[in-house]
Amino acid sequence: MRQFNRYLVTSALPYANGPLHIGHLAGAYLSADIYVRFQRLMGKDIVYICGSDEHGAAVTIKALKEGKTSQEIVDKYHSLFKKTFHDIGISFDMYHRTSAQIHHETSQEFFRSLHAQGQFIEKTTDQYYDEEAQRFLADRYIIGTCPNCGHEEAYGDQCEKCGSSLSPRELINPRSTISGSKPILKPTTHWFLPLDKYEAWLKEWIEKGEVDGKEYHDPAEWKNHVVGQCKSWLENGLLPRSMTRDLDWGVDVPTEIPGSEGKKLYVWMDAPIGYISATKQWALDQGKDWEPYWKSEDTALIHFIGKDNIVFHCIIFPAILKTEGSYILPVNVPANQFMNLEGKKLSTSKNWAVWVHEYLEDLPGKEDELRYCMIKNMPETRDSEFTWKGYQDSTNNELVNNLANFVNRVLVLTHKYYEGVVPAIDQDQQLAGPDGEMDISFHDSELIRLFDDLQELASGIRTYDFRGGLKTLMEISTKGNQILQFNAPWKLQKEDPEAVKTIMNLSLQYVAAISVACRPFMPFTSDKLRSMLSLSPIKEQGEFDDMLFRLCEGEVLIEEGHKIGEAKHLFTRIEDKVIEEQKEKLVARSASSEANKTAVAVAAESDVKAEVTFDDFTKMDIRTAKITAAEKVPKADKLLQIQLDLGFEQRTVVSGIAEHYTPDEVIGKQVCLLANLAPRKIRGVMSQGMILMAEDDSGKLSFIAPQDSWPAGMKIS
Ligand SMILES: [Zn+2]
Repeated sequence: MRQFNRYLVTSALPYANGPLHIGHLAGAYLSADIYVRFQRLMGKDIVYICGSDEHGAAVTIKALKEGKTSQEIVDKYHSLFKKTFHDIGISFDMYHRTSAQIHHETSQEFFRSLHAQGQFIEKTTDQYYDEEAQRFLADRYIIGTCPNCGHEEAYGDQCEKCGSSLSPRELINPRSTISGSKPILKPTTHWFLPLDKYEAWLKEWIEKGEVDGKEYHDPAEWKNHVVGQCKSWLENGLLPRSMTRDLDWGVDVPTEIPGSEGKKLYVWMDAPIGYISATKQWALDQGKDWEPYWKSEDTALIHFIGKDNIVFHCIIFPAILKTEGSYILPVNVPANQFMNLEGKKLSTSKNWAVWVHEYLEDLPGKEDELRYCMIKNMPETRDSEFTWKGYQDSTNNELVNNLANFVNRVLVLTHKYYEGVVPAIDQDQQLAGPDGEMDISFHDSELIRLFDDLQELASGIRTYDFRGGLKTLMEISTKGNQILQFNAPWKLQKEDPEAVKTIMNLSLQYVAAISVACRPFMPFTSDKLRSMLSLSPIKEQGEFDDMLFRLCEGEVLIEEGHKIGEAKHLFTRIEDKVIEEQKEKLVARSASSEANKTAVAVAAESDVKAEVTFDDFTKMDIRTAKITAAEKVPKADKLLQIQLDLGFEQRTVVSGIAEHYTPDEVIGKQVCLLANLAPRKIRGVMSQGMILMAEDDSGKLSFIAPQDSWPAGMKIS
């Protein structure tokens, strides 16, 4: 591992056209926050940079839709991001924004430099132009009929119905979303970065970590899926990529360059440069020099991102940096994979998400419970999943039963036996460790064990194995619990109070260690613990390093005679009701989301759902049934209330098919029913199961009909 004198850590700039959900958090922010907090605790010179990505067509389209200006849209999300990140404890040194003047200047300097070096290729191509609005149309501003599925509202870059990626020229009957008119093709000139020219050195850099014999990084430290994705891009061959767009929102192409009128920088050219402009702003505010953080060989530049941004951070941005000439390249890009939610992909447009700001409103004071569950399930090497049940289990079974329980027992007993004063120890005590052996230097040997565990935790974080680091933290707490359990001070106190002093002193050392070691993962808990122990708050200025040094020297972490504070509950149990409310909210919101109407069909045809086991499948009880009665649910356009005969019993089901079938059309039909679906009240009617339907790509629903001769109540498996 190369040694570095300073670190510059970035998290992907969130795009300012919608709030943050847990998938964002799991992708680029929590991981970086753990890493940065840890390096600060090790006394390193480290700067953590982020900001809002405020340019690009998606912002202007959102503004158009909502009847607002682009500036209003980005202002709204920039302040929401800033607050959300702060409230969930993401500890940026600088949270900046790309609409800032210093950013416009910095990205223009890059463009100028590449232009002056003759790196760009100018190319003229035909693009769609709206004559009424007198402007070129970005891909998203053009809608038309999808050539693949016939969907009439497909965008110029993608059909959201069938999921195929498109180019505007492929659309049948294209029209402008601004004026509604049919666009014409008109020539326009743009500046392309010839990525194909950089292929050779990019390949060397990715695969060997060196270029022309100069060492950059150790490829063994990079995640396999990151290297794999880069290799596949390189193997497919890179194409020149346009670094400019015809837009009215963004960073201007420097005006002295001929042909710059009406041209803006491509958002993926300007966004990563946002890391640099944010660093400049940070340095200005701190009275420091920004340049060593970006230009000195002894700086480790690390980009934390989600896997959808790998190509931009491992190919395009490095190409820009190296071509400019004076910048370093990242030593690692530890991209995470995706986090799914309750069995489905997180989706902003389908409103299938846990929004972080809403979580914080709904479950105030439970920042670390969310952080813990997300880190435990972090998609470090493969896609992972967040479920509310998992959240409840990790909180109740691990944070409450293990960590909070240990801390509480130690503090309560310290108050009970010693009025809150850390007891002195008798080094000659003979006590049992968890493995049952007797040891004369029990206290010392247990502290050595603690030291080893802390080292392991540190090594997890250093190698981006945050799940592993968190696991080690909880093992430390488990060992603390075992020390109490095996020695049972509550029994021993009468017969051997001296031994109890040793046990309690040791347990207090464990709690003190946890108050530092939990900091990267659960900063709010760290603050609570420090306050409960009456120890000075952690400032993230080398405290972990100091702790390791002390243990190494045989010193304690909390001194004899120190008076601790009051014991409070670190975590409380999450009740079933809370989880049910959150799950209901998720489903209800998603069902009413605009995109969901078409999305249901998309999911059916293009996305095969996540794998299930045979056991999962056998949990479902699917039966044949006959519809005996049906009526419309009052004031609900989509719902029918249906009576079913299952042979052995009658059921009432509320089904969302009223737009497809009248009550008369369904009476007498044979259907398939998911009979053991948990009953749910819909519009005041208790629905006891779900009728299975097939859906074609136009969204039309049909019954899955058993053969007429089959009786009701047959099992389907
Ligand atoms: Zn399509």
